[in-house]
Amino acid sequence: MENDGILAVAKKSTFRGLWTVEQKNKSLNFDNLLRNFRNNIVKIIPENSLLFKWMTIQGLKMNAKKHHSSLTSLAMGVYATEHCNLNCKCCTAFSPIAKETFLNIESYKKDMVKLAELTGGKLSSFYVTGGEPLLHPRILDIFGIARDCFPETTISFMTNGILLLKMPKTFWEQCGQYAVSINISRYPIHIDIEKIKEKGKVHNIKIDYVGGSDVPVKSMWKYPLDVEGKQPLSRSYDICSQINRCITMKEGKIYACNTIAGIGHFNQYFNKELEITEEDVLELHKVKEVKEIYEYLCTPKPFCKYCNRKGVVLGIQYGGSKREIEEWT
Ligand code: SF4
Ligand code: SF4
Repeated sequence: MENDGILAVAKKSTFRGLWTVEQKNKSLNFDNLLRNFRNNIVKIIPENSLLFKWMTIQGLKMNAKKHHSSLTSLAMGVYATEHCNLNCKCCTAFSPIAKETFLNIESYKKDMVKLAELTGGKLSSFYVTGGEPLLHPRILDIFGIARDCFPETTISFMTNGILLLKMPKTFWEQCGQYAVSINISRYPIHIDIEKIKEKGKVHNIKIDYVGGSDVPVKSMWKYPLDVEGKQPLSRSYDICSQINRCITMKEGKIYACNTIAGIGHFNQYFNKELEITEEDVLELHKVKEVKEIYEYLCTPKPFCKYCNRKGVVLGIQYGGSKREIEEWT
């Protein structure tokens, strides 16, 4: 997973809800426009300048406004693993400080069956993320279950790409068979992207190198946590671009964002107690109708008081995590 890009606006397209084709195209055009604008503006205005930060916050607000309404379809994500084979500073998934954690296939299957019942087997998209998903020894089972439950849904997974060329032939064949597309986050590490694309072509797999080749510098962003929990709820929420876009399902629970879903690692590693209350999560197996999920997702959560979204720090030079609390606060 990577930090939000932009004038913060266009995260990955897999995080979007389902609108009409026309609305979706308009939004994609808008996001592409902003992405291009951002990629060019960083060549002139340094990412760590106040002006760039101000522009980013305006972008965040605009983006948040666009996404803070009730959904009509879900873009659902799961973590295949919560640890990673890279160790990026400020990782928004908390992977550098996460214990080795693999998705439990049995509970995942139950969750997917329930989700399919609620949604009539239709999601706007389903994405598998991490950590690094390819570290999961049963990654193909994860894709297979997703395809069984959601035959027509766009399914993708997010990877740093390091392990892709080490995956066996059966992996490529089955990704092709399940129509799973691959989103590779663009980090300043060497991966043989041409060879990966070639493999994708052979097996008819869509490959997206997220960030594209025109992004001049790969930098990290930090959305600091306020461990005291003193942020005004509405302010955190009003500039949060994760609402309705980073929905995470884990062990029978739905989380509005990956920050809440992953905070256990932060608490455990730094001996903190950022509290997740009953209102922060939705018990999937108690849900009777999908509209309960939509309603849950588009409201601020008590946990938002820990999110200092306005304090976003931009342009942090990419590097290894030292696992110090300042990377997340
Ligand atoms: S440590 Fe792994 S999950 Fe985190 S940003 Fe880096 S590649 Fe992504
Ligand atoms: S806790 Fe609230 S403000 Fe923070 S990322 Fe999640 S939804 Fe957004």
